[in-house]
Parts: sequence; structure tokens; C-alpha cells
Amino acid sequence: MGKRVAVIGAGPAGLATVKELLDEGHEPACFERASSLGGVFRFGETDGVAWESCRLTSSPLLTSFSDFPEPADRLMHLPAREYVDYLTRYANAFGVLPRIRFDTTVEAVERDAGSWKVRTRDAAGVREARYDAVAVCSGLHQHPSTPEFPGQQSFTGAIMHSAQYRRPAQVAGKRVLIVGAGESGADVAAEVAANAAETVLSLLRYGKTPLFASSKLTVEGNVCFEVVKIPPSVAPSGLPSPVSP
Ligand SMILES: Cc1cc2nc3c(=O)[nH]c(=O)nc-3n(C[C@H](O)[C@H](O)[C@H](O)COP(=O)(O)OP(=O)(O)OC[C@H]3O[C@@H](n4cnc5c(N)ncnc54)[C@H](O)[C@@H]3O)c2cc1C
Repeated sequence: MGKRVAVIGAGPAGLATVKELLDEGHEPACFERASSLGGVFRFGETDGVAWESCRLTSSPLLTSFSDFPEPADRLMHLPAREYVDYLTRYANAFGVLPRIRFDTTVEAVERDAGSWKVRTRDAAGVREARYDAVAVCSGLHQHPSTPEFPGQQSFTGAIMHSAQYRRPAQVAGKRVLIVGAGESGADVAAEVAANAAETVLSLLRYGKTPLFASSKLTVEGNVCFEVVKIPPSVAPSGLPSPVSP
């Protein structure tokens, strides 16, 4: 007999979980605190974590679900909004959409007499319901991790995490230091450099080889701290010349 399953989150993981549960004859109820699906790829001016021009770093081939492939002509990395369109088509195709309760936050989950008591909050207030199982699909990248720096309190400029960056107007004419060159840092650095007065990228690498030939380098043990100026003419696809292998 099908089980009642509470699914927390309507990002890619939550949608696939609801679809698979339906396939197996279960009764999923998906709770999503945002007003639309897509997880981190959903653009939200104040409640999202992605910027307007954000594109996926994984290919459509690898990012699409095997039971709902993207057309073969979509080989370029998709803009996030097109990936959300894809997820919406997926949710429509497999009857997932009617299972989602948007604008509903799961506040607590409690084991109780062999089942799960799930407390949710929406515009109408707080509700509690029982489920046989709970699938936690609330994501790894919902909350920015912001380091603290010495002197931060006396810094008079703005400090923002990439999760608060939306568009180049936020940095136009400013001198910007980008800290970190992971996927978000590298992506945002190129766009910022094309719009800010001056852009400097600071990154940390393990080993003693810098990433860029023009870097200023400090080596401490196994770690090298690298600082590099990004020219404003940098194209979205290019950073300063890398060190030859
Ligand atoms: C800027 C950025 C770009 C990325 N690009 C890629 C990429 O190109 N390719 C790739 O594979 N991965 C990428 N990632 C990683 C990406 O986070 C995951 O691959 C993907 O989002 C995982 O999906 P998910 O459903 O687990 O989580 P999420 O997408 O984070 O979705 C979680 C959902 O749960 C909801 N939620 C959370 N808590 C609650 C609650 N208490 N009640 C109700 N709802 C709740 C959230 O609102 C959200 O909609 C990127 C991440 C970031 C931040």
C-alpha cells in the first residue's frame, strides 16, 4: 500500500523524489517555502541565491534527468531560468506540480508513535499532519557561508556574498575585491570586472603553483595565496592568462 510521504523542498532533488514516489504508488506532499519551484536556480530578487545572468556549470546532458532528457541540440550550458523552465516541464509531465504546496515552510519534523509529525507554516497559519516518511530535499546551498575577516568592522564599503549579487549595477564604478574563485566566484568575477572601476580576485590554492601568470603570490606551507587584477575587458569566458602547465 502506498505511503504518505512529506517531501521538503521543490528544487531538482525534491521534484525527482516526488516523481519517483508517484511512480511507486506512494502519496507525496511536497512543501516549498518559495512561491515557485527550481531551488537555487529560481531567480528571486530578495529571497534567491542566484544572480540574473547565472548559467549552469554542468551541461544539459549531465544535468537533465535520464527519463526526461533535454533535446540534443541544447549543448550549451543553460541559463538558470531556462533550467527552471526545464524543471517546470518535468514537473508538469509527471504530475508533480499538483503535489507541491508553495509558500509553505516546514518548521519542524518529529518522530511520534511510528510516524512523523510535520509542522508547516503558510499564509493561513500553522498546521500539523502525520506522514509515514519524510524526504529532506532542502538543499546544500540555501544559506550563504560568509567568512569573517580581521578589520571587517571598520571597513566602510559594502560586503556582499555572491548569494546577494544580482546584477552588474550593484558594482558599477566601484573598486571590488572578489574573495574566492570557486564556481560562483569565477563566474561573478568576469561579470563584475566588465562593470566595476577595478576588480581584484583573491584566492587560495593548495600547492605552490599560482593559477594566473600575473598574480602576486604568498606561499605558506602547502597553501598559496594569490591576488590577481582582472582587466575590465575580460570576456565572460576569459580570465587573465593561466600559468602554462
Ligand atoms: C549559484 C549556484 C549555481 C549552481 N550551479 C550548478 C550547476 O550548474 N549544476 C549543478 O549540478 N549544481 C549546481 N549548483 C549546486 C546546486 O545547489 C545543486 O545541484 C541543486 O540545487 C541541488 O538541488 P536540491 O533540490 O538538492 O537543492 P536546492 O536547489 O537548494 O532546493 C532546495 C529547496 O528546498 C526549499 N526549502 C529549504 N528548506 C525548506 C523548508 N524548511 N521548508 C520548505 N522548503 C524548504 C528551498 O526553498 C529550495 O527550493 C549550483 C549552486 C549554486 C548556489
